[in-house]
Amino acid sequence: MAARTPMVVLRRGRDRRLRAGHLWVYAGEVEEVRGDPAPGEVVDVRSWRNEFLGRGFFSPQSAIRVRLLTDREEPVDEAFFERRLREALRLRERVVSGTTAYRLVYGEGDLLPGLVVDRYNDLLVMQTLAVGMDVRKELLADLLVSLTGCRAVYLRNDPHARELEGLPRHQGFVRGEAELRQVVQEGSARFVVDVQGGQKTGWFCDQRENRLSVAGLARGAEALEVFSYTGAFGVHAALAGARSVLGIEASEEAVRLARENAGLNGVGDRCEYRVANAFDELRALTREGRSFDWVVVDPPAFARRKEAVSRALSGYRDINLWALKLLRPGGFLVTCSCSYHVDDAALWGVVLDAAQDAGRRLRLVEHRSQARDHPALAAMPETRYLKCFVLQAVS
Ligand code: SAH
Repeated sequence: MAARTPMVVLRRGRDRRLRAGHLWVYAGEVEEVRGDPAPGEVVDVRSWRNEFLGRGFFSPQSAIRVRLLTDREEPVDEAFFERRLREALRLRERVVSGTTAYRLVYGEGDLLPGLVVDRYNDLLVMQTLAVGMDVRKELLADLLVSLTGCRAVYLRNDPHARELEGLPRHQGFVRGEAELRQVVQEGSARFVVDVQGGQKTGWFCDQRENRLSVAGLARGAEALEVFSYTGAFGVHAALAGARSVLGIEASEEAVRLARENAGLNGVGDRCEYRVANAFDELRALTREGRSFDWVVVDPPAFARRKEAVSRALSGYRDINLWALKLLRPGGFLVTCSCSYHVDDAALWGVVLDAAQDAGRRLRLVEHRSQARDHPALAAMPETRYLKCFVLQAVS
């Protein structure tokens, strides 16, 4: 068996990251490919000294040439994927509660590189982002159905990442059928999730614990929700007793859903949404002399690539500066970044600069990250991308 597995041999000295537990082999680290593996086929990765390092998916078109699945010489078959999926499910049973919307499989974090599965009630939404997972999507869908008891699996295979693998963009059911508009429960709130047209797979599960945690700080507040998407932070704030919520969001569809979500939770009269560019709107609010007791800033990833970091940092600095100008003394700022390339220290630096420019003194109430259904693989910093600082303006 092992002798027939195709092999990827690394260049001299390029084994260190894998030995430390990282899962990716970059194209430039490969010395030689033996045995002519097909796209998505399982290959053994060996060092230049012929030591076995692991076994994973071959992606001939991608800059990430191999994604490791295991560091053992074990068969990568149906039983293997069943074990991995069971382990992912078991963790969710421990760390997820009070919601019907959560991430069941978080790719590399679950040692299932290139596979994402979100669960909305009884609908599973799957993304196969690497060719190795893509060619196994039927098997994965069957396993997911049998392990979860959910009957419908929808493929949301439209992310840009697929193109880097030479895969087409595609959406559709791969098992069963279900409503593509799901109403999920998250804490005491209910939200409409648009699985077909929404961003990511329709919902930002990664912010769930942050949303629930910071809502309590909004009691009695005039709240501002910047980059509000479908209103999740603000609706929770309103339910926790915010006097008013103003949401700023560039996408009209998202704002339509935000209004619907506010209504669904009986707080429509306290929530207002504006379709606007946040950078302009915060300046406009400052000119109008507005101020708020609770401000959430949750922008999209400004830096998707390393080269974009310095521009991204000036974007984060700008938006945080204007958010701080709008914050009342004693008020709370919740500021986030989901750019992996902007780390905690970089975001913190930006916040300090913005505070100085705004003439505000801040205290750090809490330093948070992504929800526990997005477990980071310790040796893979790429899996830890969400940063969230909860700050209070000193009176
Ligand atoms: N906080 C949300 C997720 C926000 S995602 C939640 O918990 O569900 C970031 C949002 O910013 C997206 O909805 C995107 O449409 C919006 N966005 C991107 N650029 C923007 C801009 N310049 N101004 C306003 N909104 C923007």
